[in-house]
Amino acid sequence: MIQFVNVTKIYPNAHVPSLNGINLHIGRGEFVFLVGPSGAGKSTLMKLLYREEVATSGKVIVDGKDIGRLRPSMVPYLRRNLGVIFQDFKLLPERTVFDNVAFALEVTDVPRREILRRVPAALELVGLRHKARSKCLELSGGEQQRVAVARAIVRNPVLVIADEPTGNLDPENSWAIMKLLSDINQMGATVVVATHARTIVDQMKKRVIAIEKGVVVRDEERGTYGYEH
Ligand code: ADP
Repeated sequence: MIQFVNVTKIYPNAHVPSLNGINLHIGRGEFVFLVGPSGAGKSTLMKLLYREEVATSGKVIVDGKDIGRLRPSMVPYLRRNLGVIFQDFKLLPERTVFDNVAFALEVTDVPRREILRRVPAALELVGLRHKARSKCLELSGGEQQRVAVARAIVRNPVLVIADEPTGNLDPENSWAIMKLLSDINQMGATVVVATHARTIVDQMKKRVIAIEKGVVVRDEERGTYGYEH
């Protein structure tokens, strides 16, 4: 599903690479935690996956496509097959829960009756069907992140990318979000989660890839978080 071949990323004006010769393979249907100190390069790695950034050298292959070589006009097609979840939710606060999830389908011209079927199903999965008519700003942080999860999965993406999805949440809501991501993985999506949630990583026993200073320093099946606070 994901392959990095000798990937280096040097931002304009940066003195050192943010990613330095990354080689990685993540298979279809895997669940992977990406850990490492702040500034290690986790967000940069994820941004390469959804073509928010382009590698300086090397290849990033997602779902069989060399995405560094995609023409800009093709990037929206790549993103249709991906679900991305951020630490700060990135919802439209004045719009309803329903609208926030429906937007993900409207941009791809999904027919209205399909939207009316798929949005409630996605909201049901995250336990928020009863809040469909609420404005997002009326929801708690945990609920808002569940809306963001519903928005990410409503198009049935092959790959879900979550960049510190629990960074603004308390432990209970953090667990709820990670369990949802695990459920989505069980339903078939490949899931990559960058996180500092030590306890959750230690208990979920998934593959853990650690990066430091732009380099993969550890890659373990059923791994642990592995850093002191
Ligand atoms: P992490 O997600 O692990 O905290 P990042 O990928 O955000 O790490 O950052 C990795 C390194 O790249 C850091 O040194 C950071 O300062 C640098 N960096 C990130 N984004 C940019 C940017 N847009 N321009 C220049 N440097 C950046």
